Amino acid sequence: MTNLAEKSSFSFEVFPPKTAVNNQKIFQTLDELHDLQPNFISVTSSNRTLNFENSTLKLADYVQNKLKVPGVVHLTARYFDRKQIDRILVELKFLGIKNILVIRGDLAPGRPPKKDFQHASDLMAYIKSKDANFRILGACYPESHPESSNKISDIHHLKEKVAAGCDCLLTQMFFSNETFYQFQENCALADINVPLIAGIMPIVNRAQALHVLKQSECCLPKKFTQMLDRYQTDPTALKAAGLAYAINQITDLVTNRVAGVHLYTMNQANVARYIYQATKSLFTIKNPV
Ligand code: FAD
Repeated sequence: MTNLAEKSSFSFEVFPPKTAVNNQKIFQTLDELHDLQPNFISVTSSNRTLNFENSTLKLADYVQNKLKVPGVVHLTARYFDRKQIDRILVELKFLGIKNILVIRGDLAPGRPPKKDFQHASDLMAYIKSKDANFRILGACYPESHPESSNKISDIHHLKEKVAAGCDCLLTQMFFSNETFYQFQENCALADINVPLIAGIMPIVNRAQALHVLKQSECCLPKKFTQMLDRYQTDPTALKAAGLAYAINQITDLVTNRVAGVHLYTMNQANVARYIYQATKSLFTIKNPV
């Protein structure tokens, strides 16, 4: 990864597809994302499938070794024990993958979690104790994690995460930059000084919009909900408005010298390309150190 303090980084998240057809397509998607010269590409993992080696690791290997782009594996804490983690660390080292986004993960229905790592910070500390050369990324939530009783305890646990070895934080998606700036300030007040990378989700279809409205704990700005209301029955207009919204968010974030922008691509390279074309000149400007 490049020095995050020097310039705002631009990176992508992809997820391993469920079906074999999409399995072929994902490599094409990754090839297309590579052309956009990202600082890194992260690959999610799932507690439902628990198929880390055959999905997340396989794609991250392709990113890292075929495309020569730094690959980041998402590694969940809840369903692994120490022995399994040891094996995964050996594989990561063998493949030259240095970047691990450690998350706790949510409970998979009907499957009890393992006991070794309760929270992301437990796994972070374990990995760092095994090999301090791994670069550990962690998750953070500008509007607090939904399970947190209040913002103070959430920030307190975030500080523990950084103390456990987290080198960089990636945010949950948000649609109000003001909320992000407030969170950034709260982190600074709590002496959390690692780079905060902003997670941006471009809304490009109705299903995605409804999902965000239903699932999200985010505070949704009026201009965002107005956009969804206005264009929800017209796919072309909704996509145009959603892309413009994400580009506006990114422009404002980079103007305000964000450490980085991480695009939740939903495996749509055309969406990433559109946003890249519209914003690439912003990412060449150096931030003051
Ligand atoms: P934690 O840091 O463990 O925090 C979870 C909750 O526990 C928070 O409320 C926190 O305040 C609290 N807490 C933390 N430490 C302590 C402690 N010591 N004592 C008491 N309470 C504590 N999920 C996936 O399954 N796969 C993915 O690939 C994935 N990628 C993600 C990427 C990003 C950028 C983000 C933001 C989330 C991602 N998630 C993913 C979702 C994530 O797993 C869930 O949000 C999960 O509920 C919390 O994960 P965490 O790492 O933030 O957990």
